[in-house]
Amino acid sequence: MGVNFKQSASVAGYVLKQRILRRKKYPLVLMLEPLLRCNLACGGCGKIQYPDHILDKRLSPEECWEAAEECGAPVVSIAGGEPLIHPDIAEIVAGLIKRKKFIYLCTNAILLESKLSIFKPSKYLTFSVHLDGLEERHDEMVCEKGVFKKAVKGIKAAKAAGFQVASATTVFHGEDPAELRKMFDFAMNELKVDGMMVSPGYSYEKAPHQELFLQRKETIELFKEILKGHKDKGWQLNHSPFFLEFLQGKHEEYDCTPWGNPTRTVFGWQKPCYLLGEGYASSFKELMETTDWDAYGHKSGNPKCQNCMVHCGFEATAVHDHFSRPARSLAASISG
Ligand code: SF4
Ligand code: SF4
Repeated sequence: MGVNFKQSASVAGYVLKQRILRRKKYPLVLMLEPLLRCNLACGGCGKIQYPDHILDKRLSPEECWEAAEECGAPVVSIAGGEPLIHPDIAEIVAGLIKRKKFIYLCTNAILLESKLSIFKPSKYLTFSVHLDGLEERHDEMVCEKGVFKKAVKGIKAAKAAGFQVASATTVFHGEDPAELRKMFDFAMNELKVDGMMVSPGYSYEKAPHQELFLQRKETIELFKEILKGHKDKGWQLNHSPFFLEFLQGKHEEYDCTPWGNPTRTVFGWQKPCYLLGEGYASSFKELMETTDWDAYGHKSGNPKCQNCMVHCGFEATAVHDHFSRPARSLAASISG
């Protein structure tokens, strides 16, 4: 799951330490939402449907750093909303880098070029730019014309300024695998991104366009087409090989690891995961101790979890499996 070797080595060292300590539940990626406000209104978004007084809330830099320190995950994914409209985003990022956290700053990139000067390139920082297709499809998905061109301009400017950039793609119902494959070629070969992330969309109850979301069987069929021969393509997918296999219908036994990607939002620590908001805890410790983890995941029978194959639930499961079966995982990463 690493853009660079330093990150992969650091995450591997962290996981091995947890295993030596025999910790059964530990976080890998902190999902940090310092605000929910965005400058777009995508049809599949479940984050921006709150009233204005909630969208105006912001986590302070101190709250962000405290969350990172308390949970201890080596990777922090800063999402939202649109993090680049947070007035203290540069300070938040600088403080996380100081704490040696690997940061993915998730952005639609509308503001990326104009905000680059407030950041410094670092091995710890990667801009993760939302790209849901080539121009026509992307603009359709984000419900605004011209956004794809701005995202491409932002990526090129960030790369030229020495930053690491990854693309992040959410796959929805009705996706054309051939178009997505072209988009991945474009991102790798023309934009020269340092990595790509891809995940099926989750059916947020609050999202306005419910018809966009995938059922589990459809997800598997789509990903088999999208990822066919991805190693031969030279695509750098920032996921564990087992997660990519899971998306293509293998590892049916996998269940969700919701504590792998704990979420700190403007409301507190969200139960049980990034996708469902079924209550909030005031600390990470309280989240871990008071969430009824058995009530979530495929095996629980919870209808909200039955079609979910999202990375924030299953990447940690795949990483755990990777460390249990390193030889099989290496074979998966070679064969693609
Ligand atoms: S860019 Fe992201 S946060 Fe903003 S509306 Fe779209 S999906 Fe939601
Ligand atoms: S399967 Fe896991 S990640 Fe998906 S909705 Fe349920 S608890 Fe959340």
